[in-house]
Amino acid sequence: MRIAVLKERAAGETRVAATPETVKKFIALGASFAVEQGAGLSAAIADEDYRTAGAEVTDAAAAVDGADIVLGVQAPDPALLAGARPGAMVAATFDPFREKDRVQAYAAAGLEALAMEFMPRITRAQSMDVLSSQSNLAGYKAVLAAANQYGRAFPMMMTAAGTVSAAKVFIMGVGVAGLQAIATARRLGAQVSATDVRSATKEQIMSLGAKPIFVESVAGIEGEGAGGYATEMSEEYQKAQAELVSAHIAKQDIVITTALIPGRPAPRLISDAQIATMRKGSVIYDLAVAQGGNVEGSVADQVVERHGVFIIGSSNTPALMAADTSALFARNHYNFLSAFWDKEQGRPVLDEEIGNAVRLTQGGAMVSERLKG
Ligand code: NAD
Repeated sequence: MRIAVLKERAAGETRVAATPETVKKFIALGASFAVEQGAGLSAAIADEDYRTAGAEVTDAAAAVDGADIVLGVQAPDPALLAGARPGAMVAATFDPFREKDRVQAYAAAGLEALAMEFMPRITRAQSMDVLSSQSNLAGYKAVLAAANQYGRAFPMMMTAAGTVSAAKVFIMGVGVAGLQAIATARRLGAQVSATDVRSATKEQIMSLGAKPIFVESVAGIEGEGAGGYATEMSEEYQKAQAELVSAHIAKQDIVITTALIPGRPAPRLISDAQIATMRKGSVIYDLAVAQGGNVEGSVADQVVERHGVFIIGSSNTPALMAADTSALFARNHYNFLSAFWDKEQGRPVLDEEIGNAVRLTQGGAMVSERLKG
């Protein structure tokens, strides 16, 4: 069983899909491991570290040659995988709803594409879930980046020259990233409020010491929502939400938006007119910019100034912390494949529940029900 990891090739991608720690663990399962030269450099891992862990470090073609499994952060171009074994498994994020051509190319190449972002939200898959591990650190980094851009302080400070008041931070979308953003902003001493469409988040917001700001006139999503995910809201809800945001946002200094809907463009939560009501020097961090953006006017990987307000659009926030996010991503891969490792066959044999959820292509065909739907 040969496992290969390539250097990520997508622009701005600094993470790597295996670390010396997970290389050792896969070797302990009986696999051999090959890593492309320089694959870990942007995540602070030297080739030598992989070698010491037992991996062969070589060029891309030699690494992939005869591979049974290829691990990636973002799925590599299948043309790079020509030397892999027929039917080889490729576990990575595929952005399947938007990258349908790439999924078809994997099918045509006879590869078994396993989309890590389709990991079901069930307890036993929590340790395999890259969306959670990456969002968690992204929520943290978004607050730090916003604080850095902000020309004022977060905590209330009493100084001999007078008092500096605490920043008001508003988190929109309280999933994994939003919860971490609340916790981080609170730790920095800000006054924090937060909103979501799922009613289950209200208690979570309060338990972190923040104030819930919720639409009450129109029903939101009961409890956690299907599979823990939100859906697109009715026009009536969106209107009520816009009114609520308009009333609240003018008093906020920092807004972090994280709202996503799987398979759909990100919901638009903040309009240009609303931005115009904010105090000059305020900062908005749009974590959803790559999915279309929660904020009118946000631009991927740029800081845009509108009405004196800075809008930070970061298309890959986890890549800004590649050492830690790679370590977690690599563990997600290991937890996933090792949970299904069949000792006799010396390879992972996925079960139905998780296998059917993550598998996009197999035997030359696109097989994902979710993608067909
Ligand atoms: P996400 O990234 O899909 O979306 C971020 C947040 O935005 C969600 O809370 C969503 O409800 C919210 N949102 C969507 N539309 C909105 C709108 N119009 N206005 C305001 N907010 C809006 O979500 P996520 O971070 O992946 O997590 C969602 C839930 O799934 C969480 O409760 C999380 O704890 C749970 N989860 C469970 C598992 C597991 O059990 N294995 C793994 C990961 C997450």
